[in-house]
Amino acid sequence: MRLPSPFSILKAGIGPSSSHTLGPCLAALDFRRILDGRGLPEGRLRVRLMGSLALTGRGHLTDLAVAAGLAGFDPEKEQRETLRSVNKETARLGRITAGSRTFLFEPEKDVVFDLAARDIPHPNTLAFSVVDSAGATVLEEMYRSVGGGHVLGGGFPAPADGLGEKPSMGAIVDLCLGDGMDLADFALKRLSDEGLSEEETFGRLHGLWEVMADAVDRGLNAEGLLPGTLMLERRASELYRDCQRGIRHYGLFSRDVTLPALYAIAVAEENASGGRVVTAPTCGSAGVLPAVLMMLKERFRLPERKILEALLSAAVVGGIVVENASIAGAEVGCQGEVGVASAMAAAAAVHCLDGSVPQAEAAAETALEHHLGLTCDPVGGLVQIPCIERNAVGAVTALNAANLALLGSGRHAISFDAAVTAMKQVGADMNCKYKETAQGGLAALSQRAEKPD
Ligand code: SF4
Repeated sequence: MRLPSPFSILKAGIGPSSSHTLGPCLAALDFRRILDGRGLPEGRLRVRLMGSLALTGRGHLTDLAVAAGLAGFDPEKEQRETLRSVNKETARLGRITAGSRTFLFEPEKDVVFDLAARDIPHPNTLAFSVVDSAGATVLEEMYRSVGGGHVLGGGFPAPADGLGEKPSMGAIVDLCLGDGMDLADFALKRLSDEGLSEEETFGRLHGLWEVMADAVDRGLNAEGLLPGTLMLERRASELYRDCQRGIRHYGLFSRDVTLPALYAIAVAEENASGGRVVTAPTCGSAGVLPAVLMMLKERFRLPERKILEALLSAAVVGGIVVENASIAGAEVGCQGEVGVASAMAAAAAVHCLDGSVPQAEAAAETALEHHLGLTCDPVGGLVQIPCIERNAVGAVTALNAANLALLGSGRHAISFDAAVTAMKQVGADMNCKYKETAQGGLAALSQRAEKPD
């Protein structure tokens, strides 16, 4: 069965967008490796951003991401440097050195938002090229950033279409019930079959959980304006402080509802400011899963092992969607981002509370079903409105879905696989202006046009 590794669904990276920031940065890093091995004449580097990357790339920091990747910034590993600091240095130098070659590169001039590009292979397409001193293109590589930081083209592995059977939740549930496993055991067994020891698996999961928990913590303590033209104030820290002191309307909902919403806002604000988060399944939706797990960990004093297993359960859910539909807002709208994040978190919550595999499926299905049709209409092309609050709502929906599933036997009328198929269909039918173009919905109503910050 062709199910992506949990570590390709959950990846540490930089915000604000896995498809528009992380993926393009990884593509640039890949092109840099290609440059290094080609023995090319020295020339000028050019980057062309097309489709949704051209329309919303400035707000999603795509231009900074590609320039940083070309300069050697690794978004999955880098802890200290930020996109902005790397770019400042690149802009100052006006060139990039890759291996033994130096290329002219001025980000302001050489990264082009190509709004006229047509017939592109994917809504998130980008091309890197080297132009010699006579103006001739001597090398060009085209990439597609297909969501969740996954990239196709260049040196990335080709899609496994046709190789192996597509995963289905139905088949996985049957396997689990037959072998007395839960979704986490199932994922663990697959990793072990691929040669990863349990110790290595949990070591890597621990690292991811640390990044998630840090993002919650940083978000709850940070203040000031988010970057970009909307001039939005960060609010997680103030709301959290007030909630702790019992100020405002804290009495209306229990802490079990309020805290995950605030944790999700904290991570989403970190993401919006270009901070370090874990794709779950994307950066734009990175607040949902940690928020749910953090609340459950605190509320039920769960051991870390339980949380790490819950991450595996969540990754199984995300992997099924990646293989059968999409997690890119530019392909299927926000149902594929926050909707899938909510489904992942719902299954993870059921695992945390010792629910059964059918209950985990029911929870994931309920969460996804009630996000069907959700558009992606980021105001100003920034991952802020509606994205930040949408993470909070997605987290609470996940808990609601888990709660309903745990109250029942796990029997449900619509299967998770059917919900995924419906999501794909709805995404295909959705007007393009609602798919991360900032041309429809809330984005179209906003008077604030996207401008470079
Ligand atoms: S609206 Fe949803 S899909 Fe679109 S950028 Fe925001 S979080 Fe991502």
